[in-house]
Amino acid sequence: MNQTILIVEDEVRLAEILDDYLRREGYRTERARDGRRALEAWRSVRPDLILLDLMLPEIDGLEVARRVRSESSVPIIMLTARDEEVDKLVGLGLGADDYVVKPYSPREVVARIKAVLRRVEGQVTAPQRMIVGRLAIDADQYQVLCDGAKVSVTAAEVRLLALLAKEPGRVRYRAELLAASGTGERFADERTVDAHVKNLRRKLGSCADVVETVRGVGYRLRVS
Ligand code: CA
Repeated sequence: MNQTILIVEDEVRLAEILDDYLRREGYRTERARDGRRALEAWRSVRPDLILLDLMLPEIDGLEVARRVRSESSVPIIMLTARDEEVDKLVGLGLGADDYVVKPYSPREVVARIKAVLRRVEGQVTAPQRMIVGRLAIDADQYQVLCDGAKVSVTAAEVRLLALLAKEPGRVRYRAELLAASGTGERFADERTVDAHVKNLRRKLGSCADVVETVRGVGYRLRVS
């Protein structure tokens, strides 16, 4: 079955180019030209992935990402105007799975889509549920539980947590965690991992201290 990509972009010409390119690559597509329509389309179409422009009329891309993320782990690739925005965006913890900086080539966008979908599918075919202390991590379902209560996390955060949980107590380098999280390799640096962990701890609430910082090295899960 063909996968459906929701293209959220207010610049009609850009949206058309992406749309044509994606359909030639065998994807089904839906388009939305503002944030409100994007949310409507997401609810009715349930796409396999969302390409989301940051600057949009009605409701901006940040808010669209937040609302989608509060209900779903659908992969989101953010289309942004400038390189320097990316660090800031990751810091906000919107949970985008990747970022593409404009101007981009449709070919680059398709390559990112394929990479993100591959990672997601990889997770689906390798079901695993791990329990570490009060935390339960189900990488298959993109689900994390703290004392049995569901924690709303992003795909990247679950992947990061899943790597830590594979061997609780073992310190993982930021570079390993970055690779596991699958966040925008092009912008890869340690601050990205720190931002993910910061967001994760905030979301984990009373379970936050399970994730321990090992200064100058990386992170591990507390075993006790
Ligand atoms: Ca725009």
